[in-house]
Amino acid sequence: MDYKALAERLLPGNYPELSNFEELYPPRDLPKGAEVTRLAPSPTGFIHLGNLFVAIANERIAHQSGGVLYLRIEDTDEKRKVEGAVEAVKNALRYFDIRFDEGAEIEGENKYGPYYQRQRADIYRAFVKDLIARGRAYPCFCTEEELAALRERQVAEKKITGYYGEYAKCRNLSEEEIYANLDAGKPYVIRLKSMGDPEHKLTFHDEIKGDITVTENDQDVVILKSDGIPTYHFAHAIDDHFMRTTLVIRGEEWLASLPIHLELFDVLGFRRPRYGHNCSLMKQDGETRRKLSKRKDPELSLEFYRKEGYFARAVKVYMLTLLNSNFEEWYRKNPDAPLESFRFSASKMSKSGTLFDLDKLNDISADEFARLSEEEMAAFLKEWAMEYGTDAQKAYFDDMDYMKSVLTLCMGTTGKKRRKDFKTASQAMELISYFFARPESHESYRVSPEDRKALLESYLKTYDHADDSQGWFAKLKEVASANGFAAEMKAYKADPAAYKGSVADVAEVLRIAVTGKANTPDLWTILHILGKEEATARILAAREEA
Ligand code: GLU
Repeated sequence: MDYKALAERLLPGNYPELSNFEELYPPRDLPKGAEVTRLAPSPTGFIHLGNLFVAIANERIAHQSGGVLYLRIEDTDEKRKVEGAVEAVKNALRYFDIRFDEGAEIEGENKYGPYYQRQRADIYRAFVKDLIARGRAYPCFCTEEELAALRERQVAEKKITGYYGEYAKCRNLSEEEIYANLDAGKPYVIRLKSMGDPEHKLTFHDEIKGDITVTENDQDVVILKSDGIPTYHFAHAIDDHFMRTTLVIRGEEWLASLPIHLELFDVLGFRRPRYGHNCSLMKQDGETRRKLSKRKDPELSLEFYRKEGYFARAVKVYMLTLLNSNFEEWYRKNPDAPLESFRFSASKMSKSGTLFDLDKLNDISADEFARLSEEEMAAFLKEWAMEYGTDAQKAYFDDMDYMKSVLTLCMGTTGKKRRKDFKTASQAMELISYFFARPESHESYRVSPEDRKALLESYLKTYDHADDSQGWFAKLKEVASANGFAAEMKAYKADPAAYKGSVADVAEVLRIAVTGKANTPDLWTILHILGKEEATARILAAREEA
């Protein structure tokens, strides 16, 4: 068969010499040991935790080695493309401080671009043409129906499905048959003519999983689709070579395709990058562990973290904790060091499923918030509210001094005794909402409506806004005694039957009346932040409702 003539027929015209691409995209001038890594999302609009995991790993590895992290958009599948997806990826990652040095929509020299695969179609075609001319790729005219029937047959025969060996019908078409099909205008794709032998096992060193055994590829995978656009497999091999990627950290769902990728690099004559396949994120669901699912777990989407107002640093700390087994200890010893000074290592990444636990993240968030000053917390909450908050929540920031006094109370004294109530911006905003509006609902009281009414009435009679904290509490005790409640906890504990309750119940009535919540920071301070008028009005309203 005259492969050269076939290549010319299939991809007519002058394509650049392949060596031109080597000159156009020369090896990068980087110090020894510098890694070139990338993030290569498809623009589907859904960016998830798995993407963030590999983004953090790739970012750390590139930047700590003095290398480059770039963003490539793998848009070969037109059907999955969503408008605005690239912006969404960039915004989502920027929030977590993932900085790209070059790539799609990234400012910079961008010498290895374009970074959208569809804009690189000519490069791919030049290589496809060469493979055809070398007899290593061929046109396949099989229709969807034929392929579906083949699949059915293979399933019935309990054979591995796919286009390979004896099943690869078009691999053995004669020259006449090929030209007859072409003359008849039949649509076709271009497939790799695989030389792999599935009996052949080879050892592959994965940067995360260590040495693994893989089976050689024998699938004649599609490399160029009928619209002249390559498949992901083919495009990524060309791109990782010419963008001079040294290390690919990606999700382990790609491990199954690795043999295809290895063969593609070999047939193209490219040196392969090193690969590390990151294990899937798991969730404890009752007794079992399962993969996080798009449908069931909102926390899989990165959008979730921004909408809820997670503190990016907290998410990053948790991710690093999961990503590198020695991070947690390092962080405990170096709580104030920049996260970048931790030495990240692919070989310390987990080899099997990582358990992702939102409760653990919430604990870390609470710790991280507790490290912020009131000003920093206010700025963080404000930024969140301006983007995601209600109009009422936006108005919380009209009086920043008031907000600061609220946060000073709700966060506790700077230093050791900080409260750890805040986990996310949306939750914190809800927690402090009673400072800005009367509570819409009240948590349930332990005390009966009659007693509540009586307690609130006697409280109002003795209430003097000028009382200091101690004087105020002494009066609360008087109110307790006058209404059959123990003024001292000790007395109550010694003989609970002798009382309706204790001063703690009295304080709770007041607390719920004013804030709607049974758990709050110091009540006296709350009353003073609210001011006499507002505090009194709320107590009056609660008395009416009792
Ligand atoms: N485009 C692939 C994805 O969206 C990237 C796979 C890779 O990193 O090689 O998952």
